[in-house]
Amino acid sequence: MDTQFSFCMPAEILSGKEIVKNSEIIFSSLGKRCLIVTGKSSAEKCGALADVTYALKKAEIEYSVFNKITENPLTRTCCEGGKAAREFGADFVIGIGGGSPLDAAKAVCVYAANEHIVNDGIYTEKIQNPPLPLILIGTTAGTGSEVSGVSVLTRENGRKQSVSGKSYYAKYVLADPKYTYSLPAASTVSTALDAFAHAVESYFSKKYDCLSRRFSCLALSEIIPILSKFRNPDFTPDENERDRLYFASLYAGFALNKGGTCFPHGMGYALTEDYGVPHGLACAVFIPAFLKEAKKGDPDGFAEIVKSCGISENELFKLLGSLCKTDITIPIEKIEEYRIRWTTLKNFKNSPTDFNADDGASLVYNLFGE
Ligand code: NAP
Ligand code: FE
Repeated sequence: MDTQFSFCMPAEILSGKEIVKNSEIIFSSLGKRCLIVTGKSSAEKCGALADVTYALKKAEIEYSVFNKITENPLTRTCCEGGKAAREFGADFVIGIGGGSPLDAAKAVCVYAANEHIVNDGIYTEKIQNPPLPLILIGTTAGTGSEVSGVSVLTRENGRKQSVSGKSYYAKYVLADPKYTYSLPAASTVSTALDAFAHAVESYFSKKYDCLSRRFSCLALSEIIPILSKFRNPDFTPDENERDRLYFASLYAGFALNKGGTCFPHGMGYALTEDYGVPHGLACAVFIPAFLKEAKKGDPDGFAEIVKSCGISENELFKLLGSLCKTDITIPIEKIEEYRIRWTTLKNFKNSPTDFNADDGASLVYNLFGE
């Protein structure tokens, strides 16, 4: 039996009924002034903002809301959030949202404590002062950003790039799946596909270990039976299914922390940047090709993945085919641009076979070529 693994989770993850409203003591332990970082409206819509402000008021903590975070957050907006935190004199930050506000909140904590870091400087400048303490509250069931030390931001040139390290972990994660109940069906599918991609890519990455593989399998065994039901266009998940999807996204996040992503994520960023395809879907469209490569490189691992999904290999590919639909077409010049850009993409090197930028470009041509 393979028993070698390492697992580090600097964030304390707390769950349970009304965990946010009951976390007054945690909030008080971090200070007297708090900046809340959110997207435009979902934090309010899903009830998380009301629960947070209820607990902050009870704890007599002053707060200010920074709600300018967009999808695929810009370094510039996060830097602005850091400035807002400094000007408000925030002792700590609470991030509420899907992956975008959560990743942004991590960056806000860094910018707030490090005035010398401006915009894209977050990728190059040294962090001199410890970031502000951070609490994260997820409202989508996909990215697992709550439990990762990764922040995916958009550079000033419009390209997505991640920044990571111990400084990017939250101090506390308050995990309550009820905040995902308001997520529309299309976003539920796309975010679940993101968690699915995290589980699969990290399973076959060059950096996996035996524990991360267990987390991948656990995530898949929860996600696929529920995703399968979405083949029926009228399907709406019940609360139990929503809860299972949410916790599965955290398990996939644990796996991702160890294994990292492979070429579907690296290539998927381009579809989001240039064609606005939602992140989870943009990565998942490349998963069938990735699984075929994985089957060649690691047939036993492939068999374990299929078994964890609880359906046959054929059904798995059919399911992905039916859920991963986009109507984009990509001109040949654009594909050539990707081919050149992807020659330096690290995600190819983390993938299980020697699939490279040329193969990636051919795949894009086959899937979306004009
Ligand atoms: P998102 O970009 O955070 O949000 C997508 C949309 O869903 C927004 O319009 C948002 O509204 C809305 N929304 C969020 N929660 C909702 C709820 N409970 N009810 C109704 N609407 C809701 O989506 P995401 O897929 O979770 O995050 C994607 C981002 O995470 C990408 O930038 C991706 O690169 C990144 N990511 C990070 C990691 C990591 O490890 N850090 C891993 C994978 C992906 P508002 O704008 O109003 O909030
Ligand atoms: Fe992702």
